[in-house]
Amino acid sequence: MNMSAERNVLVVGAGPVGLVTALGLVQEGIEVTVIDAAEEIGTAPRAMGYMWTVSEGLDRLGMLDDALRIGYPVQNVRFRVLQTNEFIDIDNSVLEGHVDYPYFLTLSQDLLTDIALEHLDRHGGATVLRSTAAKELIQDEDGVTVVVESPEGQSEIRAGWVVGADGARSAVRRSLGLEFQGFTWPELFVATNVHYDFPALGHDVAGSILDPDYGAICAKINREGLWRVTFHESGDLPDETAGERIPAYFAKIVPDPENVELVQYTPYRMHQRAAETLHAGRAVLVGDAAHVTNPIGGLGCTTGLHDAYVLYEALAAVIRGTTDESILDAYSDARRGVFWDWTSPMASENKNNLYNRKDMADLEQHLEELRATSSDPELRLKGLLMFRNLVTPSLVSDASR
Ligand SMILES: Cc1cc2nc3c(=O)[nH]c(=O)nc-3n(C[C@H](O)[C@H](O)[C@H](O)COP(=O)(O)OP(=O)(O)OC[C@H]3O[C@@H](n4cnc5c(N)ncnc54)[C@H](O)[C@@H]3O)c2cc1C
Repeated sequence: MNMSAERNVLVVGAGPVGLVTALGLVQEGIEVTVIDAAEEIGTAPRAMGYMWTVSEGLDRLGMLDDALRIGYPVQNVRFRVLQTNEFIDIDNSVLEGHVDYPYFLTLSQDLLTDIALEHLDRHGGATVLRSTAAKELIQDEDGVTVVVESPEGQSEIRAGWVVGADGARSAVRRSLGLEFQGFTWPELFVATNVHYDFPALGHDVAGSILDPDYGAICAKINREGLWRVTFHESGDLPDETAGERIPAYFAKIVPDPENVELVQYTPYRMHQRAAETLHAGRAVLVGDAAHVTNPIGGLGCTTGLHDAYVLYEALAAVIRGTTDESILDAYSDARRGVFWDWTSPMASENKNNLYNRKDMADLEQHLEELRATSSDPELRLKGLLMFRNLVTPSLVSDASR
């Protein structure tokens, strides 16, 4: 494949973050090629809820109307205490009047990816190649040569810049030799998609089950009534037999487990990790390729989308020559800072509250905090506005646009 180097961008990875970055770049007038190793968009149970902060960027890119038409906005989050059947509501409508998008977006990740792809198609200016995996990057002063593998065999793609959006196991990050600093949690987590009448038990569409042993995310994924239940197990248990253990788990959280219809499940390990830098020469990292968090609280893809919103503008300005490459170091510093100062600590706290309260007395401390938040609108607002820290303001000066 022969493409003119220097001005064009190769985005490796057509997940939500790669495609949103690509859409931003084409809207800035940059020529983009996107490659993805998979034949089609992955539908394994993954992201479904995003922090209220993400909607502004989706709106700017023209995706928000579709996101809200296919997904839906959520304000209330309801916690069910398994052993006492107490329900605690956190009403997030306090955001109204304080921010432009006062809700959490619910939309399964594959549908968000679909929407981004459709907008990219409609806009034009991007070529998307599936079943095409990046293997290695070779950089020089003018650009990058990426060795790729597809059903036709090995070939090379030449580009001015590469955006590594190829997920937690990023081949781009590995090829750059960058360390993925941080740690992996010891537990095994099982994400299930199920049909079950949770509202009949008192659940609201967004929420969790709180219990020292059987805590779980329990939230409605789509308008058709598919639910996500994500629980944890001992890390010593084998991933391969997770499916066999799922019925026993549901028997602990619902009175009629025979009515739970399991649609899909994935066992997975959780990490708190970030690349040592998100910028190396003519390559930049975004999304899970740049950092991974445990997903409790919906901060993984949320943080990745905020990377994309700030990166596409900065990279476009570098390519246009209106700003210099140091802006990409600023991008790296800002987004690593957001991850280590905000995303990772908040997600770790969420995870510990959900899965690591050792007994009811320990859980009670957390319940007291939730009850206090539930009854105090100012406390709720303060907590919600803290998520502004996930956002990096534009790094591009008006003169460089
Ligand atoms: C169970 C679970 C629930 C989650 N829930 C939430 C949530 O509610 N909210 C939230 O914000 N986050 C959530 N997350 C996190 C979220 O799924 C990730 O942050 C998100 O997928 C990151 O998107 P991405 O585009 O960076 O990477 P990915 O979605 O991983 O996409 C990477 C893409 O790159 C492709 N690829 C991989 N290697 C190559 C290669 N060598 N060459 C070319 N292409 C390649 C893959 O095929 C894939 O399409 C959850 C995660 C899990 C596991």
